[in-house]
Amino acid sequence: MIQLIRGFKDILPGEVELWQWIEQCAAGLLEDFGFSQIRIPIMEKTELFARSIGEDTDIVEKEMYTFADRKGQLLTLRPEATASIVRAYIQHKLYATDPVRRLYTIGPMFRRERPQKGRYRQFYQIDAEIFGVAEPYVDAELIVILATLCDRLGVSDITAKVNSLGCPECRPAFRQALTAFLDRVAGDLCGDCLRRRRRNPLRVLDCKVPGCRQAVAGAPSLADSLCDDCRRHFDTVCDLLAGRGIAFQADKNLVRGLDYYTRTAFELQTGALGAQSAVAGGGRYDGLVKALGGPQVPAIGFAIGFDRLAEIVARVRKPPLAGPKVFIAALGTRARDLAFQWHLDLALAGITSAMEHGQKSLKSQMKRADRLDAAFVLIVGDSELESGRLILRNMETKEQEEIELDRVTQSLVRKLK
Ligand code: ATP
Ligand code: MG
Repeated sequence: MIQLIRGFKDILPGEVELWQWIEQCAAGLLEDFGFSQIRIPIMEKTELFARSIGEDTDIVEKEMYTFADRKGQLLTLRPEATASIVRAYIQHKLYATDPVRRLYTIGPMFRRERPQKGRYRQFYQIDAEIFGVAEPYVDAELIVILATLCDRLGVSDITAKVNSLGCPECRPAFRQALTAFLDRVAGDLCGDCLRRRRRNPLRVLDCKVPGCRQAVAGAPSLADSLCDDCRRHFDTVCDLLAGRGIAFQADKNLVRGLDYYTRTAFELQTGALGAQSAVAGGGRYDGLVKALGGPQVPAIGFAIGFDRLAEIVARVRKPPLAGPKVFIAALGTRARDLAFQWHLDLALAGITSAMEHGQKSLKSQMKRADRLDAAFVLIVGDSELESGRLILRNMETKEQEEIELDRVTQSLVRKLK
């Protein structure tokens, strides 16, 4: 039997209802905050990700699904959405009338990581970006949106971690100090970090290897070397969050795995998922639109890990069972033919019904109605056809009532819709 690809998964009926509910909550909330939906392709030229996410990142170095198409062009299944949204923003000049744009998208991302609980090779993200605002208000707004979404979904045990990654003004000095520090602890770093520490020392702070985490525990803090503007920006974000009563922690080791971030970086973490603690991550990327060939437009965004969020939500909320409204229990060929017509007419009128298409006893049909969790059962056999009156049974209260044979669809629509 052919199985699905390792690290990929099916989202089955039962789970899908929960996903749809989360998606509706997220989309509704984002739209209330003025976001419009954008749909971007699943594949882009490899270059787009290499240039935006950064050559020395985990994603670009080892996680991307990249292949040459038949003409030899290198293409990549998107590992995240920001790069594509920025590309679309530039390509369609979405900045032309007003650079301020709020965009969101929901869909699958692909990263070839080691599959484990909460870590898949195809996973889903809810991604939101705000273009054109440099002020810290929107940084706080995005974190408020994330906290609100978790709250509405009934997800507790969430902490927002916030840090500032500085800007091209203040980061170089920090980089230097960090490099000097990393030289001193080089003996404790993993191979990747040894290699990266010259080209991109910040990345070492983000390494998940326990030895590296320990080695960098005493590293100099970016927070201590921020320029005045970055410091003020960060303090304002913190003040705004505190003012709204959002629980957050300033975390000087939070760097995030992508190169394009400047200033505010944040992550929503939970204790509920074991090792995979990040439910959402985001940050400001004031230089990316320009770096990808657009005008100088500041921007900030976040990505929520849908799979991880759904896993937590599934623990606190069981999706409602979607049983049919009516099960039509028909006995005999004529009754079954009629039942089939009612089944079609009810569905067309927006009422889900089910029936037994083969010949089965009333007892076995009632059992099936029970198993499907039908709200009502309509019973039609020879004697009902004779009398012109059918029985409609409420499966919960066990009450029964009569329905006229020549008005079945109308009666049920009036009663059940
Ligand atoms: P992690 O530290 O867990 O690898 P990340 O920093 O690589 O996360 P981001 O690129 O910030 O993740 O993506 C945003 C969110 O997407 C993460 O917080 C996480 O919830 C989710 N996510 C990332 N990679 C995966 C994956 N392979 N499987 C499932 N969810 C993922
Ligand atoms: Mg990762």
